[in-house]
Amino acid sequence: MTANLLDFDLEGLAAFCETLGEKRFRATQLFRWIHQRGARDFGQMSDLAKSLREKLATTARVEGLQVISQQESTDGTIKWLFDVGNGDAVEAVFIPEDDRGTLCVSSQAGCAVGCRFCSTGHQGFSRNLSTGEIVAQLWFAEHFLRQHLKRNERVISNVVMMGMGEPLQNYSALVPALRVMLDDHGYGLSRRRVTVSTSGVVPMMDRLGQDCPVALAVSLHAPNDALRDNLVPLNKKYPLAELLDTCIRYLEHAPRDFITFEYCMLDGVNDLPEHAQQLVDLVTRHGGRGVSCKINLIPFNPFPQSGLTRSPNKQVVAFAKILSDAGIVTTVRKTRGDDIDAACGQLAGDVKDRTRVGQRIAQQRTVVLKQMPAVAATAKETSR
Ligand code: SF4
Repeated sequence: MTANLLDFDLEGLAAFCETLGEKRFRATQLFRWIHQRGARDFGQMSDLAKSLREKLATTARVEGLQVISQQESTDGTIKWLFDVGNGDAVEAVFIPEDDRGTLCVSSQAGCAVGCRFCSTGHQGFSRNLSTGEIVAQLWFAEHFLRQHLKRNERVISNVVMMGMGEPLQNYSALVPALRVMLDDHGYGLSRRRVTVSTSGVVPMMDRLGQDCPVALAVSLHAPNDALRDNLVPLNKKYPLAELLDTCIRYLEHAPRDFITFEYCMLDGVNDLPEHAQQLVDLVTRHGGRGVSCKINLIPFNPFPQSGLTRSPNKQVVAFAKILSDAGIVTTVRKTRGDDIDAACGQLAGDVKDRTRVGQRIAQQRTVVLKQMPAVAATAKETSR
């Protein structure tokens, strides 16, 4: 079995090159070919010695994920469904804005945390993605978009680990993937522009602060333990006080001087004025000095199994006002790509209902290929 070079950060690739009797700078050259130029064919890596190219041809490969479908929203958001084998599929979403291009990346097929308001959480957990499968989403999207948008320079400026899965429950694959994103010989993204979103896996938040401190978003969604136990079951293991203590510790290492708290607005569940006031008290008083934070209010994207509904606009505005009046920087997330089910919490991938997954993937593939033959064909080619 050959090694998939998308599985390696630069250190890992240097170690692999050593096993081939090659010097470290060869790994850097190879890494740049793969990540900066999107190359997968060793034959085209013209500044590598022919002998190395020959060794690589028999020991290594650069293997991305097969694209099952690509959907483009009227607002420019693009969602890809990637096949990760055994009937599982994961999604990545590109969100273009005037001053940035953000890719939302998945870390697991399904998710074991089971948040009540999350479509992924309702599917159950299938498996962790490998480093290569996480990196492949960025590798594919960046180089596809350069072609698609006819751009020579970088298109993706920000990565958010907010797709399917709880990234900190796949820590050993996540950290090398983050290093590839941050590496100047890879994607060269700043630590402030790479965000890991967690539902609050406390021990791994501490480790991330030590190993690879990037921007952190915490899925809070409730201002007290009783409610959070119900919405984010992981809260029973790591309750709010412990979570906020960990956020304060993380800030000692974080590239930004605040934590982003995500708060999904659920009608009549967590969106009342008293919830807003409890939230103010929690984040301004915890530990005596509070937690330096921004709060991002997210309109809920309803799906039938949740039994939950989106808070009315008026309620969201009133909630935001209580937070802002208390001096907390508060934003209301614009929903993007909801016409293609690419908005937050809508990423369903394809790990649910495993008995029919093959059938559904085949149907999606047919529909997409019929709808957008040119783009889908390009996507398939680029993914190879
Ligand atoms: S919100 Fe995140 S952690 Fe919770 S179930 Fe969904 S993917 Fe998992």
